[in-house]
Amino acid sequence: MGSADSFDEPECDYLFKAVLIGDSAVGKSNLLSRFAKDEFHLDSKPTIGVEFAYRNIKVGDKMIKAQIWDTAGQERFRAITSSYYRGALGALLVYDITRKESFENLKKWLRELRQFGSSDMVIVLVGNKSDLVNSRVVNLEDGQSLAQLEGLLFLETSAKENVNVEEAFVQMIARIHEITSQKSL
Ligand code: GDP
Repeated sequence: MGSADSFDEPECDYLFKAVLIGDSAVGKSNLLSRFAKDEFHLDSKPTIGVEFAYRNIKVGDKMIKAQIWDTAGQERFRAITSSYYRGALGALLVYDITRKESFENLKKWLRELRQFGSSDMVIVLVGNKSDLVNSRVVNLEDGQSLAQLEGLLFLETSAKENVNVEEAFVQMIARIHEITSQKSL
């Protein structure tokens, strides 16, 4: 697997792999199920193991198949292996705006992403659960400044209310497409 592999299906021009990362219970699985199937689940999934989902996205005149990997609980045991990141061109780095610890742990996740991921990986910082306005403990500005400092894209989302979920994935995919097209010039 290389970057931006051509994909066999005639309707797709590229296959991009991207990963979800961040503390347990920040909403990674629900962001993915919202994006891939437009579903939201009240309970956390107990399943352990890597799972992924596909969705086709049109960027300009190109059809891109996005393969998005979800840790499916492995982050609880810090057991994510380098194969999870291998070949990934993008990442959604997720925290929960109602849990300070999930924001403080971002530095640790960023270190890991930079250690195992490719150097030009597109990272979108995602502050999830924006619908829980009364329980917010991480300000919008805190997310914005971290993103600026670390050179990340940034959005707040609600997987529950379906706010900015599509945008977060699409911004990542469009930026990956931009970078890979520049490389192939
Ligand atoms: P993961 O462990 O990071 O994959 O987190 P999950 O997707 O399993 O979500 C953990 C819990 O948070 C579940 O109970 C979800 O229903 C809830 N959750 C996820 N996203 C949101 C959101 O945007 N808003 C609210 N209110 N709850 C959410």
